[in-house]
Parts: sequence; structure tokens; C-alpha cells
Amino acid sequence: MGLFGKTIAELSDTAARFGLRPYGARQIAHWLYAKHVNRIEEMTNLPRRVREAMVAQYGDDVGRREPIARQASCDGTLKYLFPVLDEWCVESAVIPDGERQTLCLSTQAGCRRACRFCMTGRLGFHGNLTPDGILNQYASLPERDGITNIVFMGMGEPLDNIEAVLRSLEIFTADYGYAMSPTRLTVSTVGILPALERLISETRCHIALSVHSPFSEERKRLVPAEAAYPVANAIETLRRARIGGQRRIMIEYTPFEGLNDTSAHAKALARLLRGLRCRINLIPFNSVPGIPLRGSDRPRIEAFQAELRRHGFMATIRKSKGADIAAACGLLHNIHPPDRDGEDRCNVRMEPARGFEPRTH
Ligand code: SF4
Repeated sequence: MGLFGKTIAELSDTAARFGLRPYGARQIAHWLYAKHVNRIEEMTNLPRRVREAMVAQYGDDVGRREPIARQASCDGTLKYLFPVLDEWCVESAVIPDGERQTLCLSTQAGCRRACRFCMTGRLGFHGNLTPDGILNQYASLPERDGITNIVFMGMGEPLDNIEAVLRSLEIFTADYGYAMSPTRLTVSTVGILPALERLISETRCHIALSVHSPFSEERKRLVPAEAAYPVANAIETLRRARIGGQRRIMIEYTPFEGLNDTSAHAKALARLLRGLRCRINLIPFNSVPGIPLRGSDRPRIEAFQAELRRHGFMATIRKSKGADIAAACGLLHNIHPPDRDGEDRCNVRMEPARGFEPRTH
């Protein structure tokens, strides 16, 4: 790991090893996260002998990596492929919506949780991203400066990689890092405990909990993690935490035709969430080959929404974007570089990302 992705505590150790005074760590952080430099040589307020010693140890490159491919959707959504962990790649999506530009980033190459509706889950697990691999999907993004929100909803279960996720959240929000408000950041999970408790207590970001069924046996079939981590326990943990103020809890629910979209499901969901201050997002499912599930139609989703509203919940139907380039919810699936012809594994044309200039500001 290079310098990029280190927290201030780690940079303090680095600065001390190279004989810098304590504020040297702040200087390095400023170059990395405020000035966005790519090369140690560009850190011009560090003594030359220190820069040379650092280059000898880390190489001149601070450790950021440009995306290697991208696709553009007809609705404006962009999908990027970033190299990570030497042999793998992950996908990130940039989703425009009026004034907002949301970056959906990945935390793992693949995922071990095998949710039945998710293409990432079909890949299996291939590795945890390090903090620099997570942060790089923002730092090396061509649209970086226009990003208004970041959601940890791409490939992987973030709470299965909790240490790297917490460190990346620290750098996103710290004054020495990207100094973002935690209300611009949302971490999504299927409800892994006790990592959820750490996310609640050690950060102030929004939390999205994927529920998808109020009935445990049925949820096990959709979200196998239910067997080890019943969603009722995650909801109780969130309820006890009394999260309020600017911080939000979102409940994610995808209605599937003839499966979890009945009035009985909506009533049971309302009972399960009683006493929890939250907003419910109903997420239309994008049908994909090989997954024997169909999303509920719009009238059915609206009826589900109306039932939840009758029980006093704020429930919204999320707009689905980027489905034509497999960038919508649950569709990210690339962990390999595109082949020589630029095709990804779903035979979708990937555009080589040649011509992206390294960004330094
Ligand atoms: S929905 Fe999330 S937790 Fe489930 S398999 Fe997909 S990436 Fe993993």
C-alpha cells in the first residue's frame, strides 16, 4: 500500500519514520486528499531528502489508480471499472438525478452473501478492498468534483469489510481528508452484527438496511445471511441506538411478483419496523437472465407503498437508473478486466478508459 488511503494516525507514523515534525503528517494528508496529487515529487513543501527517501520506499506514485473502462447509459448513468487487489476489478456507478450526482462504490471484489436477486452475489467472494481501493473509486473518478453523495451500495457487503470501510469513512469525513459531511454518505448492509454496532457508534453516516421480507423463513431464501443475522436483531439494534437529527435510517425493500409484495407483507413490515424512525425505499427490480425472479409491476408497488403510508411510514419508490449498462441496483457483476475486444462478461461493450488524464486537482 502506498501513501494514499492512510489515516492521519498512520501518516503520523510515516512522518516520524522519515524524520518529519508532527505537522508533516498533516502536510502529506493535504497533498493526498485536498490537492489530489499523484506523485510524491509533487509534495513540494516536504524537504527534498524526505521526498527522495519516500520515493525509494513507496515509488513515486502515491497509489491511486485510474479506471480502465467505462460505459454510459442512455439515462446519463456512468459505470467505471477500477483495478483493485492486483488481479481483480470492481465496478462503480455515477448516477445523476437533477442537482444530485451519486457515486455508488464497491467494498469487495464479489460477495460471499449470495443474495438471490443480486448478480454480485453470484460471483462469490474474491477479496476485501483496502481503504485505498475504496477511496480511489472517488479520488480517481473523472466526475469527482461534481459528486454530491456517496453510497456504499456497489459490489460487496460493506460490513464484511468493516475495518477498511471505517477507515475510508474516516478519510471521507475528517478535516484532514475530504472533509465531507457524514450526511452525504450512506452505508448499506444486510444487517451483519456486531459490525453494525460499530458503524452506528463510530460514524455518523446514514445507514441503509436491506430487508426484502418481514418473514424470516422467506427472507432466508432471498437473503441467506438471515440465517446467521436475523434482520429483526439488526432492527432492534437500530431502534435501541435512537438515531435522530440529521442522521437517517433507510429500509431497502425490493418487491418481487407473487413473492413478497402482498398487503400481508406490507402490514408485517410495518409491525417489524414499529418504533423505528426510518424511511422505506421500495426498489423496482431489474429482471436479469439467470435470476428466476420478476419485479412487481408499478400498480402493485404503489399499493404496497400506500399500505405502508397508512401505517405512518414514509415510503418512496426509487427511480431505477443504469439498467441498460447493468449499473442499476444488484446488477454490478464485473470483477475482470474487459477482454481484448472490450466485451465484459455479459457481452456489454466496455469503452476503454484511455485518454483519462491523471487528475491532480
Ligand atoms: S445484495 Fe449486497 S450483500 Fe447481497 S449478495 Fe449482493 S452485494 Fe452481497
